[in-house]
Amino acid sequence: MRTTRRHAATARLLATLASLSLLTAACGNNDDGGEETGGGAAEGYPDQNITFVVPFSAGGPTDTVTRLVAEPMAQELGVEIVVQNIEGAGGTVAAGEVSQEDPDGYTVLMHHVGMSTAPALYADLGYDPLEDFEMIGLVTEVPMTIVARRDFEPETLEELVDYVTENADTVTYANAGIGAASHLCGLLFQDAIGVTLQEVPYEGTGPALTDLVGGQVDFMCDQTTNTTGQINAGEVKAYAVTTPERVESLPDLPTTAEAGLPDVEVAVWHGLYAPAGTPEEVVQVLSDALKVALADQAVIDQLAELGTAPVPEEDATPEAHRERLEEQTKSWAQVIADAGVEPQ
Ligand code: ASP
Repeated sequence: MRTTRRHAATARLLATLASLSLLTAACGNNDDGGEETGGGAAEGYPDQNITFVVPFSAGGPTDTVTRLVAEPMAQELGVEIVVQNIEGAGGTVAAGEVSQEDPDGYTVLMHHVGMSTAPALYADLGYDPLEDFEMIGLVTEVPMTIVARRDFEPETLEELVDYVTENADTVTYANAGIGAASHLCGLLFQDAIGVTLQEVPYEGTGPALTDLVGGQVDFMCDQTTNTTGQINAGEVKAYAVTTPERVESLPDLPTTAEAGLPDVEVAVWHGLYAPAGTPEEVVQVLSDALKVALADQAVIDQLAELGTAPVPEEDATPEAHRERLEEQTKSWAQVIADAGVEPQ
């Protein structure tokens, strides 16, 4: 997740966020000798189904991205990939569980930016994202959108800011729990306009979006991989996309900068993880399959329809992924501390 500058009291927050820029692609090239594949510990791998754990509800954006890449990866690996949703605590329940799994390459976690923010948001996380996992590779980076129930009064982002400011006690903001991308985007929004929102936590933004369409909550911020269909179908009202450029699949939607909130600029990176101790050769097999999946034209086309794209090939590697996680963990710890958010 990244952002640029901001004004007055939170200038420091924004300065730090600016350093999170993910568009300046992390080109990891740590030469720790991990390039060899085949043979050794990967001999015969995989010879049974692999489970991909999604840390949020089925039908949400993380789930969607996971299922998109799982299919061509399964084809490449010659086994089935079973997707399992383990929800709770902004994605930390699943991460904790996967960290305890056998390091044999048969349980893999798909997670997003929340992997890097959790250590600063949870006092007793129970796992260390950098120590307890092997990184397989980055997957994609997804813009977010600010969306509301269809009959919500404000028509533009500017009107939304005024409305939320005037009705801060009653307006409800849906998110997927502390550390979820929707929570982090909400923090930026609140910080930008200087209000505290009434947050309604879900176990994923799949069900949150269902409630938004049904009118049970007022607004939220969520990845285009979840909201594009509903925006284009007119089932929700959309105010802005949180990236510097407009998204091709939502050409009429202004950017937050165009709509008056340049400081709410975020995109959500995803990566695949195996439990620490998974043999390097096995990780490499998974990483190679990920690269094949990300080059698959059907995956590229479907991600484009949902407002995003695969990461460049050099980022779908353990080295680039580790570098991203290290950098993001440091940056977010600072951002969260500066924003005065206490770990819970
Ligand atoms: N988009 C969610 C988030 O806010 C997660 C999900 O449901 O995939 O992190």
